[in-house]
Amino acid sequence: MSQTVSRADFDQFMVPNYAPADYIPVRGEGARLWDQQGREYVDFAGGIAVNALGHAHPALVKALTEQAQKLWHVSNTLTNEPALRLARKLVNATFADRVFFCNSGAEANEAAFKLARKWAIDTAGADKHEIISTTNSFHGRTFFTVTVGGQPKYSDGFGPRPQGVTHIPYNDLAALKAAISDKTAAVVIEPVQGEGGVLPATADYLKGVRELCDQHKALLVFDEVQTGVGRSGSLYAYMEYGVTPDILTSAKSLGGGFPIGAMLTTEAVAQHFAVGTHGSTYGGNPLACAVAEAVIDVVNTPEVLAGIRAKHERFVSRLTAMGDKTGAFQQVRGMGLLIGAVLAEPYKGRAKDFMTAAAKAGVMVLQAGPDVVRFAPSLVIADADIDEGLDRFEQAVNEVAGR
Ligand SMILES: *Cc1c(COP(=O)(O)O)cnc(C)c1O
Repeated sequence: MSQTVSRADFDQFMVPNYAPADYIPVRGEGARLWDQQGREYVDFAGGIAVNALGHAHPALVKALTEQAQKLWHVSNTLTNEPALRLARKLVNATFADRVFFCNSGAEANEAAFKLARKWAIDTAGADKHEIISTTNSFHGRTFFTVTVGGQPKYSDGFGPRPQGVTHIPYNDLAALKAAISDKTAAVVIEPVQGEGGVLPATADYLKGVRELCDQHKALLVFDEVQTGVGRSGSLYAYMEYGVTPDILTSAKSLGGGFPIGAMLTTEAVAQHFAVGTHGSTYGGNPLACAVAEAVIDVVNTPEVLAGIRAKHERFVSRLTAMGDKTGAFQQVRGMGLLIGAVLAEPYKGRAKDFMTAAAKAGVMVLQAGPDVVRFAPSLVIADADIDEGLDRFEQAVNEVAGR
């Protein structure tokens, strides 16, 4: 029947920019995955905070297959019903008046940064083009987004970078106060630094950032690619903080596994993306928008959002106890179902070892940098799956800790 493939084919045929694990998942259902050998895993990784409703959720399968029978793609000389329905839902549920669709988090941020500069230059002249971001932040892998991202390892080695980008320490309001000026077009913040170690902003910091942006007529951009669509316990993390941005980017959980990104903004700012200023062939694709609409319908209910907060407590109390018992973690932090176990001093730099041991024990976890084990499971994961996965994770921790 089908040709057999194996992990060795990756090393032979694919560009070597990744180092995937030695097993290949072939099927998923809810919060469980099975590999080629039929081994079962509890999935606490969720495709890196993407599979918001786990695998093969019936509502998403239905939305995708129904739309697949009708219309897959039209060009941007036309609009389509799923895109319009999704845009209206996002506008009704958030601060935003207008939405731009694309296919990924990086593209949503690329659009956000271009729009912020366009707005600033249109309204205040060419000098107002600077973007302030934070060290250790992550905003995607296009050249503009790695440049705004605060991790030089991702932007080094590609020649001259886009100009006018500076980085300041996260959660440090004094540093922003010193850096911001009337030349600042935008300040870009992840409400919780995801890749940078699952590090939440403090509420005082975000409130202060908002005030400084207002004083200097700079836009506040929240990158909610990882924190958005319920991940934080609210539909978007800005709602948890009570601090409203001018531009918000969303991707990952928005499509529940189908590629889609969105940039949300206000009426006044949106007007600076006039006809022809920006675009995307696939952005607003009917298949992606139909799936995302179903994701929003399921996630944005009081029951599901309250469930996320309860599951947060379930994870955190168990992980904290595990840390106390084994000495492996110095802190457990995060919001909603984006949780980081910060490795204690003797285990610093070994997050990958925990990931590998966890997979061996039958549970998939993530790392967020070398020092943090990250959990980003399905937002509707059953308590029994959480308990089973944490039992397996505890075995892995004991193994790494030599107990
Ligand atoms: C994952 C991520 C991105 C990049 O999204 P892609 O879909 O990989 O382009 C941008 N910002 C944040 C905060 C992310 O977590």
